[in-house]
Amino acid sequence: MARVSTELWTAKNFYCASCGFGLSSYPPGTKVYDFYSQDCNEKFQLKSSASSFSGSILGSEYGTTIRSIMESVHPSLILLQYDRARWTVQNLSLIHRACITSSCIIPRRPLSATARRAGWQGCIISIASIPEIGRIPVVFKGRVRRKESVLSQWTRSEKLLQVEPERRGWLADVLSCVERLYSSFTIQNMYSFEAELSAKHPNNRNVRAKIRQQLQILRDMGLVEFVGPGVYRQFKRANESL
Ligand SMILES: [Zn+2]
Repeated sequence: MARVSTELWTAKNFYCASCGFGLSSYPPGTKVYDFYSQDCNEKFQLKSSASSFSGSILGSEYGTTIRSIMESVHPSLILLQYDRARWTVQNLSLIHRACITSSCIIPRRPLSATARRAGWQGCIISIASIPEIGRIPVVFKGRVRRKESVLSQWTRSEKLLQVEPERRGWLADVLSCVERLYSSFTIQNMYSFEAELSAKHPNNRNVRAKIRQQLQILRDMGLVEFVGPGVYRQFKRANESL
């Protein structure tokens, strides 16, 4: 019942964050995609829950999920949390598909040989590993954020699409580190994440060079500014009223 009503609610009340026009529903039973924009063809999947979305959400089959990311067909996500007693939408946020990279997909243990779907391997989407720029609040504790702010954050997060999917995991990881620093930061601050990044990318032997390279890409995208030798600045969203 909740699934049907949250789908109806979304189609009626929400909009496409890419173009601002309305969303259309796919026919019931369509796999992966729930909504699309007739105007710009952006696709969305709805995940609704009565409890809040914490650090991670359940994804589908691991191999299929990775493939859809690499083929750039993974949908953006609409995370909707409703209040069961009051029948209202409490929180709603978007995850831009540009920021859903192989880095935030964690494989689960394959089902055991005795399970009905033996060998099937699911995955977890780690929301906490997704750069903040790609986690776009729309409704927060029942308050609706201005549509212009939602659309402008969407446009900023979309910049990550300029990098091909195979290389976007590194970019997202470095961006996530940048976001944990103050608006002004140094290359030394970034090197403090060396061990963490190296654990995530064990095959890379020169993590520092990789960090500098990713910072250049972020600069070219306009997400990071080079202020002076080894000194950088990032745009920080002030505590904008929702
Ligand atoms: Zn659209």
